[in-house]
Amino acid sequence: MTITQETDFCIDLHCHSTASDGALSPEDLVDRAATKGVTHLALTDHDTMAGLTAATRSAAQKGISLIAGTELSCIWRSHTIHIVGLDFDPGNQDFQDALAGQNANRWARARAIADKLSKTGVDDLLDKATAKADGDVPGRPHFARALIEEGVVKDAAQAFKRFLGQGKPGDVKAYWPELAEVVQWILGAGGVAVLAHPRKYRLTATRLRALVSDFKSAGGKAMEVSISGQSSGDLGFLAELCRRENLLASQGSDFHFPGAPWCELGRIAKMPDGIEPVWHHFKKPVGLRDTSPERGTADKGRSGNPE
Ligand code: AMP
Ligand code: ZN
Ligand code: FE
Ligand code: FE
Repeated sequence: MTITQETDFCIDLHCHSTASDGALSPEDLVDRAATKGVTHLALTDHDTMAGLTAATRSAAQKGISLIAGTELSCIWRSHTIHIVGLDFDPGNQDFQDALAGQNANRWARARAIADKLSKTGVDDLLDKATAKADGDVPGRPHFARALIEEGVVKDAAQAFKRFLGQGKPGDVKAYWPELAEVVQWILGAGGVAVLAHPRKYRLTATRLRALVSDFKSAGGKAMEVSISGQSSGDLGFLAELCRRENLLASQGSDFHFPGAPWCELGRIAKMPDGIEPVWHHFKKPVGLRDTSPERGTADKGRSGNPE
């Protein structure tokens, strides 16, 4: 068969809704993605797929293809690492159980964060952060919002700098599973494991290579290369790492809220040449068109994988 690459699509494989720490409901997020020209979207809320049903319904109305996603928190050598799971079976019972476990971990962590931040003098900080999460389990951004409202800090940047960021009292890691375990959860549900935003962990090049090596040994197949708001230097660095490590490449905005033009749904720098996109390997590949005369032009097949 003849496979050609389609160029008229816009794919965003990393974003957040109110099901975790985003500002828009899954429905509003999908609406916004449609207005921004996104044709293929994965909603990747932190440690949950609670927004998936609503997003899927909305996506069908808007003509967007929704890919199952979530962003899992885990630990690798005392660093908190994010692994995006894509294109898994949301009905998989073991995966649902694992996410229920992560939700329990998040509640235990939220209690520990509130405890550690008692010295801020805010009464009932856990309740206030939970209210910011509309009654769901609060993440660090919800604690940041509560601290802003209480006048302890002036903005989220200050909240993370003083209380919640790397190495600060509210940066509680003890509740996350090991990297290899979460990769196995994703594989067990038939999905692809993607190392999220590899530059954000501030690892030395040597440590980052060690992380990638352990990730691959655990069954990880892809890494994020093109991410909204990153410098062209970072894009080049990640593209080179991806090529050298023979990983598939993913891309996404990591959109959380409107009003930050450098981080907008679908607004992602073009993937550099010479790396294989992860979406060519989805169960329903994106961006590949079978143009052999006898087979029509449906979204089928994979290059190098004749049927
Ligand atoms: P959590 O999963 O609860 O630990 O929260 C992680 C989220 O916190 C990230 O996805 C970001 O949305 C947000 N975050 C992390 N670091 C910062 C920072 N320095 N400033 C603002 N937001 C941050
Ligand atoms: Zn987030
Ligand atoms: Fe993340
Ligand atoms: Fe994210």
